[in-house]
Amino acid sequence: MTTENLNEIVKIIRDAKSVLIVTHTFPDGDALGSQFGLAHILKDMGKRVLLYGEESISYLYEFLPCCARIDSEVPNPDEVDCAIALDCGDRFRLGQAIDKLLEVKPFIAIDHHAGHKAFGDLRWVVEGRASTGDMVYELSQYLGAAVSLDAAYCLYTAIVSDTGSFKYASTTPDTFRIAGELVARGVKPEEVAGKLFDNFTESRLQLLQAVLSTLELYGSGKLAIISATHKMFELTGADKADTETFINYPRSLATVKVAALIKEVDGAIGVSMRSKGKDYDVAAVARQFNGGGHRNAAGCKFKNGETLKEVRDLVFKELLPLVQNQQNVE
Ligand code: 5GP
Ligand code: MN
Repeated sequence: MTTENLNEIVKIIRDAKSVLIVTHTFPDGDALGSQFGLAHILKDMGKRVLLYGEESISYLYEFLPCCARIDSEVPNPDEVDCAIALDCGDRFRLGQAIDKLLEVKPFIAIDHHAGHKAFGDLRWVVEGRASTGDMVYELSQYLGAAVSLDAAYCLYTAIVSDTGSFKYASTTPDTFRIAGELVARGVKPEEVAGKLFDNFTESRLQLLQAVLSTLELYGSGKLAIISATHKMFELTGADKADTETFINYPRSLATVKVAALIKEVDGAIGVSMRSKGKDYDVAAVARQFNGGGHRNAAGCKFKNGETLKEVRDLVFKELLPLVQNQQNVE
């Protein structure tokens, strides 16, 4: 745990009049929920809040209440009193404007990624914590700040997203306590679950059908691999964000310990990996390919013209020994 500068961070945020909040590229539920949630909290404290994000937001997260415009331009460092990067385990995940963003001083990182690579000026990093969203809630308590219903919706969504609906090993009594406090503020869990999980379009379901037909199983069913090709996106008319949560299907097989989704989007190949339990560390595999993440949920990207098949073979070579080496452990 790196709580290096928590007291100082709280003081800086309390004193700041204008705050820039950023998160990682291809933001997921925890990234956006934390970013928007903190934005609500700071705005309600009377601060000016600026949000930076270089991509359009996946329609899956459009339901999140947002209280500030998301700008793809980095503000002038003189315009803001501090910057806060949420849910970002590595400076390179800040996107294309890393250097400009880090010119904002002080630059604060709040994160929960295993193997967090320190960047910025001050850090509050709790590796293995369930989500950044629940850290933002804790931060609101240190700040003595109110958490409105809108903020609560954002933070609850962040927690549900990163815990796989309270299923992952990172879920602790504190995770439930904080989620409970958010529900006590009026969040309706079935509403968030409906938006996140029961919100498929027809083309998304067709994409799922195509992707599941690629299922490969190895190592006595312990390793599952599924693939989403460019052609499948073209044929179904599905969006690149539509594969979100698809990895849970191979993961749901009783025998599976490690699951991987390989997808071809925007001329690159993305890999999502999931595992069950403490014996299968997919973050270590992701790091070998310059990616990262958590022990049970990690990913990486291949941008040098590798084909989907080449990436699949590279990833397979690392994942098969992982499940085979654990054969006698259980
Ligand atoms: P997902 O499979 O949902 O895209 O990502 C799971 C986790 O892996 C994310 O929370 C993120 O921490 C990590 N991750 C995914 N892709 C990358 C990547 O390209 N680089 C790094 N450093 N981490 C990634
Ligand atoms: Mn996260």
